[in-house]
Amino acid sequence: MKQATPPQRIEPLENARIEWEDGAPWSKEYQDIYFSRAGGLDETRHVFIHGNDLSSRWRQQDRPGRVFVIGELGFGTGLNFLTTWQHWRETGCRHLRLHFISCEKHPLTREALQQALAQWPALGEYSEQLLTQYPDHTPGYHRLLLGNEHDGEVTLDLYYGDALDTLEQQSNPQVRIDAWFLDGFTPKHNPGLWTDALLEIVARLSAPGTTLSSYSVTGRVVRALKALGFEVEKRKGFAHKRHMLHACLPHGRTDSGTDEHNPARTEGREALVIGAGLAGSTVAWSLARRGYRVTVLESRGETAQGASGNPQAVLQCRLNRQPDALWQLNLLAFLHASRFYSVLQAQGHDFDWRPCGVLTLDGAYENTRKAPGADTYCHYPPQVLRRVTRGEASDICGLPVTDDGLFLPEGGWLNPVRLCHALLSRPGITVETGERVTALHRDEETDIWCVSTDAEGGQREWHAPVVVLACSHAVRELDQTADLPVLPLRGQISQLPDNASSRELRTVICGKSYLAPASGENRHCLGASYRKNSTDTSLSEEEHREVLSGVTPFLPTLRKTEEARPARASVRGSSADFVPLAGQVPDPGAWRSIYGGAQHPGRKSQPLHSHYLPGLYVSAGHGSHGMAGCPLSAEHIAALVSGEPSPLPTQCAQLIDPWRFMARRARRQAARYP
Ligand code: SAM
Repeated sequence: MKQATPPQRIEPLENARIEWEDGAPWSKEYQDIYFSRAGGLDETRHVFIHGNDLSSRWRQQDRPGRVFVIGELGFGTGLNFLTTWQHWRETGCRHLRLHFISCEKHPLTREALQQALAQWPALGEYSEQLLTQYPDHTPGYHRLLLGNEHDGEVTLDLYYGDALDTLEQQSNPQVRIDAWFLDGFTPKHNPGLWTDALLEIVARLSAPGTTLSSYSVTGRVVRALKALGFEVEKRKGFAHKRHMLHACLPHGRTDSGTDEHNPARTEGREALVIGAGLAGSTVAWSLARRGYRVTVLESRGETAQGASGNPQAVLQCRLNRQPDALWQLNLLAFLHASRFYSVLQAQGHDFDWRPCGVLTLDGAYENTRKAPGADTYCHYPPQVLRRVTRGEASDICGLPVTDDGLFLPEGGWLNPVRLCHALLSRPGITVETGERVTALHRDEETDIWCVSTDAEGGQREWHAPVVVLACSHAVRELDQTADLPVLPLRGQISQLPDNASSRELRTVICGKSYLAPASGENRHCLGASYRKNSTDTSLSEEEHREVLSGVTPFLPTLRKTEEARPARASVRGSSADFVPLAGQVPDPGAWRSIYGGAQHPGRKSQPLHSHYLPGLYVSAGHGSHGMAGCPLSAEHIAALVSGEPSPLPTQCAQLIDPWRFMARRARRQAARYP
């Protein structure tokens, strides 16, 4: 039998080793300075901002729906990024958004970054926002949503790992970079970065009109760029340097001569989102952030009434025993969600986000999976997850517990109903309740989807070029998605009125069930049960007892637990492989046409553009982990819709691509009838 290839192991990150010279950082790995001693800020402005003619290009492109994407090699201290952000804000663009991607192999620790940035008081407000969200540990992509609706929104994607590997992993093939900052130390000190292979990727991610700049004018780099089609020019260097490099990919005869190289960015920006739970609310928010006018159609009379309707929901990370792509997906999604909720809350949205940490006790694994040993999860960065003894666990959570466990400091709980309200209140979003979607139909001539709904007043039709299905297992009621394995998974929660002992609880506790700290309504949620394929929402005493016995025995001093009552049952949508579905909807007939053909997925696992339905997307199957999975899935879908950079590396995007079920089906057929 053919041996399965072991999943690729993702190596941990190594932070930068810094020496401080007169307060400025110097790299021990590369034996080089991070920025010019003659003035880092002025160097950034000269080489990168003016070097790419950013001000005039930004003004020229300041139109609704436009985004300007910068790619940087070497994030370092973030000085280039912060200066660019400040400059962009001073330019005063009204519509243009800034998207900054920066690759970094050895991120500074948060402490080192803080020390390095302390010398630029003029960048204080920007540095502060960066430091609040800055991750310094996990390899892969980290999306930081910065700024706000009033002063302009900026997206920073940190790609942690080698620049070549991480840029190659961008999962949206439509992405084009408008300007490059080549700042990965000099070729003399860091020849491993300035390879032909990397410059080829730079060229591949560029389009006519893309510029790049660098302080280095090394002959080999200049020759390689020219060979890749760039027009290269030596301009006056900064301070004592004679030259710096400016390059531009010229417009061909058929190009318009402007920067408008990505048609996906400028097409009609209207979208319909089906479902106003967490999956739909996050997608609507991400699309509205990109200038889409979004109409959310919800079958119930109010938003967030399904599985997103519990009074307290827990954000935790799904744990994996190997550092592979699934581990990375779960970890990146969790970290993104935790940052996202903090950002929204800091912007004044009150949905009770409490990043109080989540403590999972070893008893949680009894009878289900093997209990974790001391080393089981040591591939998690200690900032994210650490083992704690029973004594430490008791100190952390405020009540004596019976077991050792795992502590996830960035986890917590929030009120998902109020979160959905906050997301849907964003300008550009309209919610239509009581509209049950019955069918979808695409007009091939206009590329417009027509969505039919049943409402109290009769049948209605809605039109848009983009439709996102975020209606959990109800996606199976629609012809286009009837084959997607999103299955109902009933869950019931209980509530316990708080009391003197329970108010001591400071973190979420997970045994076989979870118990959240007291909410503003003086209650604790406990939950939740799991019943596959059940859509029944009546309350069950049996499940209530199950939920209670799953956590209260771990907290021997918790009193008055007999006062707990069954509170609410709802139905989640769970996928057949317990990984969400987020991406473009595959053509239901595609697997038949590819099976047996040269393209069939048994031979070629990459789906083709023609295997998907144009303009139709899905975010579903988040199971009981929607709190962690929805925000990043939403950003991924919005990126695919708008032709912008995805927050997911390919190896993670493939895991959630609904296409995988088609591919498996075709593979099964191929094995059965070779
Ligand atoms: N732009 C930075 C700033 O504003 O502070 C300065 C960047 S510093 C000159 C160069 C950076 O490139 C270092 O942080 C280094 O770790 C990073 N680097 C070096 N080789 C790399 C590689 N192969 N992939 C990604 N980053 C790399």
